[in-house]
Amino acid sequence: MNLARENFPELREAVAALCKQFDSPYWQAIDEKRVYPEKFVAALTKAGWMSALIPEEFGGSGLSLTEATVIMEEVTRSGGNAGCCHGQMYNMNTLLRNGSAAQKKKYLPKIATGELRLQAMGVTEPGAGTDTTKIKTFAVKKGDRYVVNGQKVWTSRLQHSELMILLARTAPPSQKKTEGMSVFLVETRSKGFEVKPIRNMVNHETNQVFIDNLEIPVENLIGEEGKGFRYILDGLNAERILIAAECIGDGYWFTEKSTNYAKDRVVFDRPIGQNQGIQFPIAEAYMEIEAAIEAANLMRYKAASLFDSHKPCGAEANMAKHLAAKASWEAANVCLQTHGGFGFAAEYDVERKFRENRLYLVAPISTNLILSYLAEHVLGLPRSF
Ligand SMILES: Cc1cc2nc3c(=O)[nH]c(=O)nc-3n(C[C@H](O)[C@H](O)[C@H](O)COP(=O)(O)OP(=O)(O)OC[C@H]3O[C@@H](n4cnc5c(N)ncnc54)[C@H](O)[C@@H]3O)c2cc1C
Repeated sequence: MNLARENFPELREAVAALCKQFDSPYWQAIDEKRVYPEKFVAALTKAGWMSALIPEEFGGSGLSLTEATVIMEEVTRSGGNAGCCHGQMYNMNTLLRNGSAAQKKKYLPKIATGELRLQAMGVTEPGAGTDTTKIKTFAVKKGDRYVVNGQKVWTSRLQHSELMILLARTAPPSQKKTEGMSVFLVETRSKGFEVKPIRNMVNHETNQVFIDNLEIPVENLIGEEGKGFRYILDGLNAERILIAAECIGDGYWFTEKSTNYAKDRVVFDRPIGQNQGIQFPIAEAYMEIEAAIEAANLMRYKAASLFDSHKPCGAEANMAKHLAAKASWEAANVCLQTHGGFGFAAEYDVERKFRENRLYLVAPISTNLILSYLAEHVLGLPRSF
């Protein structure tokens, strides 16, 4: 089996060793109780992985996005759920690339030590959905503050994050729909937030947020007013690349799990993997998964390297995420089928990972929107919206 672990062996080994301390009973208990994996995230923070992208001068590890993807891949590959911790990695890029020197000096050292977390991003709104240009949350400048009113949905990890990246309109939509939006770095314990958790398919802390006269100091505006859409893309592209890596980790986890189970499970006095009816789908799935994962992997490293060299990577980030999400979902289905009834039993982890992996065909961006991006922005087909 292609283990695809040739690159960054030391980094992989270190992250895998940490993840080993958080075994299957740990994740099962967290999932059952629907709680946040505090101990796991604290260990990642202590080891410096949560501050991977923060430059060393601010106390971080000074790693690239490529290396950050390897960290996330090892988390899902170990059987864990990276949804609790990937937010800080992708949000960091919006701040690192577009934040002011004063913002970096004030916040980065505290994020590096774990005193503060920058894990939440409020972009999606109930009325706008994927059409981000239709957001209604509005920030009005009043003296030395912005006063914000509006509503967000699916704001993840907000209850476990002292800081949040918030996208709001600062001007009504004009001819250029992406203009007039701004990005703010918000201290989430400020007055003006009402947070309502959304119970969902996975153990993923995510919320509805009602914003009522939230005051943000003007110095917490990121970059230039009205240009926020461009800045948020730095975070969104990084998110797609990181999630591609998480899916690749999942894909390997499912493939290894299917193979091992087929060797061990004895029915009719023989391992089920001795029956060609079981062998063939696994072999076929293995071929498809390996090919798809190889392609997704190539695309993910290409996208990450473009991102690291500040080059456009929208198409590659979208393709990496799509290929990886599709391939790992195939692997998840084969794994569940191979496990038969036990695939549904929580103690085998398959049903949990199955639910966790399914999310990535929808979020952070759904399949249709990726296909439409490629068709229209890369292939030049007529715009449908
Ligand atoms: C668990 C979870 C966590 C999340 N975390 C965050 C977060 O932290 N921060 C944040 O801002 N957002 C977050 N999201 C939101 C996520 O990014 C969106 O759910 C996702 O982008 C899809 O948008 P939507 O749900 O509004 O779907 P909609 O825009 O309502 O679309 C519904 C369906 O219609 C399809 N569709 C829409 N328009 C078209 C079209 N023109 N052509 C073809 N198909 C179309 C879509 O592909 C989708 O399948 C999260 C979502 C989930 C489920």
